[in-house]
Amino acid sequence: MVAASEEGVVLDRTVFYARGGGQPGDTGSLRWEGGSSRVTDTVKQAGEVLHVVEGSPPTVGTPITAEIDWDRRLMLMRTHTALHALSGIVFRDYGAKVTGGNMEPGVARMDFELDSISQEFGREVEEKLNRELAADRPVLVSFLPRAEALADPDLIRTKVNLIPEHVDPIRVIDIEGLDKQADGGTHVRSTAEVGRVRVAKTESKGKGFKRMRIELVDD
Ligand SMILES: [Zn+2]
Repeated sequence: MVAASEEGVVLDRTVFYARGGGQPGDTGSLRWEGGSSRVTDTVKQAGEVLHVVEGSPPTVGTPITAEIDWDRRLMLMRTHTALHALSGIVFRDYGAKVTGGNMEPGVARMDFELDSISQEFGREVEEKLNRELAADRPVLVSFLPRAEALADPDLIRTKVNLIPEHVDPIRVIDIEGLDKQADGGTHVRSTAEVGRVRVAKTESKGKGFKRMRIELVDD
């Protein structure tokens, strides 16, 4: 452990994902000889990964074992990849861009620049989504030089230009043949690992904000 304050603990390295890009931070535990702390959230603070802990952390220098709640993280990875697949399909088949979104483990919502939305539309998208997920498309992670990323039409569509200028190279998540976007989050390795997804709700939140709620179906 390299630093501790009332706000949390900073480690020299960690498996914890810090909240960002719409993906919640990891939870889990920190353990050391003679004690442990529950990590209730992980955030970025001044460029460092801050583990938000319950109870008092040990003194600086204590060796720590950090363990994430893996079941929750895996749900988030599946949910995150499902959202990228959804945005790829809605753009490919309906030409609509994403205007917002949010995710929790196993449930998420995404808003689209569509003129209208209906339950039938939700069912149609659900079918397409499950077909694409079942096609077991690889989910590839790469790092592109900033100049190259800014010239890529797929990445332009997902507003790569809004990424702070000092970020170079840019991390890219590519669901092969379906969706490509700059992204810092965690994903499963192929779409089949997402499993099945249900479009649980469609609603209009106003012009440019047609919302779809999705849920992972675990059966
Ligand atoms: Zn993402």
